[in-house]
Amino acid sequence: MKKVGVIGSGFSSLTAAIELASMGFDVEVFEKNEALGGRARHFKEEGFVFDMGPSWYWMPDVFEDFFARHGKKVEEYYDLIKLDPGFSIYYDDGEKLEIPESFNALVDIFENIESGSGDKLQHFMKRAEKKYEIGVKNLVYKPSKSIFEFINLKVIKGSFYLDIFTVFSKYVRKYFKHEKLIKLMEFPILFLGSLPSNTPAMYSLMNYSGLKQGTYYPIGGFYKIIEALVGLAKEKGVSFSCSSQVQKINVTNGKVSSLLVNNQNLPIDIVVAGADYHHVDSKLLEPKFRNYTNDYWNSRKLAPSCLLFYLGLNKKLKNVNHHTLFFDKDFSKHAKEIYETPKWPNEPLFYMSCPSVSDDSVAPKGMENIMLLIPLAPDLKDSNEMREKYFLIMLERLNQLTGNDISDSIVYKKSYCVSDFIKDYNAFKGNAYGLANTLDQTAILKPSLRNKKLKNLFYTGQLTVPGPGVPPSIISGQVVANEINKYF
Ligand SMILES: Cc1cc2nc3c(=O)[nH]c(=O)nc-3n(C[C@H](O)[C@H](O)[C@H](O)COP(=O)(O)OP(=O)(O)OC[C@H]3O[C@@H](n4cnc5c(N)ncnc54)[C@H](O)[C@@H]3O)c2cc1C
Repeated sequence: MKKVGVIGSGFSSLTAAIELASMGFDVEVFEKNEALGGRARHFKEEGFVFDMGPSWYWMPDVFEDFFARHGKKVEEYYDLIKLDPGFSIYYDDGEKLEIPESFNALVDIFENIESGSGDKLQHFMKRAEKKYEIGVKNLVYKPSKSIFEFINLKVIKGSFYLDIFTVFSKYVRKYFKHEKLIKLMEFPILFLGSLPSNTPAMYSLMNYSGLKQGTYYPIGGFYKIIEALVGLAKEKGVSFSCSSQVQKINVTNGKVSSLLVNNQNLPIDIVVAGADYHHVDSKLLEPKFRNYTNDYWNSRKLAPSCLLFYLGLNKKLKNVNHHTLFFDKDFSKHAKEIYETPKWPNEPLFYMSCPSVSDDSVAPKGMENIMLLIPLAPDLKDSNEMREKYFLIMLERLNQLTGNDISDSIVYKKSYCVSDFIKDYNAFKGNAYGLANTLDQTAILKPSLRNKKLKNLFYTGQLTVPGPGVPPSIISGQVVANEINKYF
């Protein structure tokens, strides 16, 4: 039986491991950290359960399809609830817009804000649904080795709907004029780590997922999904080694022959690298075997990093939803400070997740569990002073807009920022979300999922195809496993 070594235990590594074990490979996962799950790890402190990374559960069909491939159902592993409202947004006039679970109710809200926009939303969504069907059910499963993979009847027939060469920001403005609606429609693009002005309109499939399919939540927290995948992997015979940093990929006669893990060389037939691509390529391989140069990496547009706070509060908050976007400041200014002139933002937009609104199990009774997040340019110098400065800014805005003063109610507090991403995940420039999904970094223009010189070394995860986010990472693992199965 051929032995596959998987580097890292994020979503893509786990789905690759499950697929490969199902195909008959002997699979071992090596994770540098004590805990499995990569950026989706969690931790427990003083009765609170904090998800460290993802909190938005979109594209539920991707999760269902993955478990169904293995004869399983999502509900065998976790209780999934649909949030209502899915999320809310604060605007600069201090108004809060709650996005209802019901699409028809959303159409009415649009109509109230801008006359005629209800019908336009229906039309926008029909096209977005088509994009979703072609994109998420078809295109993202391609290994993206050649443009010819994308030339098939379904795609040709659907190309009218794809709007690949239309810019998202212009596309949205063809439908809607009111700034509030534009902000709402452009928000899902932030998940792709890029700007609406730099993103193909094809990605309005994200609007379909967020506004029509809705926002879901696994009771117990996002880590329930990691536990489900680890459980399924073990059932398939995958073995896991935690606190096992891969230090080097060894090559003999033009092939990867072993992995150096905790100072021991372990023989291996095939490697799937689910750790950050840049780290694997430029730190674990000798220069002559690398897929890309430093210049290549430095010319890539990375998705943002972020500043996070995990807080336990000794009281319940009023007037707060599970997901809240504080978009009460100028988005374009903050975006510039992330993408064009990287610096700590002057007036940041931020996001608050409060899972204890929907789930009693993540905080002690009568208490609240919150995560605050500011997107930042990657590679910024972070310091405790900076973290604290932005912490106070967020507390003040939270108080102003929601009427909750939490300054005297914090019983647990932990921050996480650029330097932690580098230390914990070997993240290139401390990125949080991988590589941006801009047009020139999409599909065949992404870092390749196979090493060009070493035929038994493959890459998976949010820096390769199809891109950043949990659903794409789940798909990335499947795509790489299929490629390996083809060749071995
Ligand atoms: C704060 C935050 C919020 C997010 N929110 C959302 C969200 O709401 N919804 C969503 O869909 N997505 C979200 N994402 C993105 C999503 O979490 C990621 O796209 C996804 O989890 C990445 O998975 P991955 O497979 O690429 O691996 P990663 O999670 O990046 O895991 C890689 C693993 O490799 C390990 N590793 C690194 N080097 C080595 C080595 N040398 N040896 C062994 N192991 C190594 C690391 O420790 C890590 O465990 C968020 C991300 C962050 C950081």
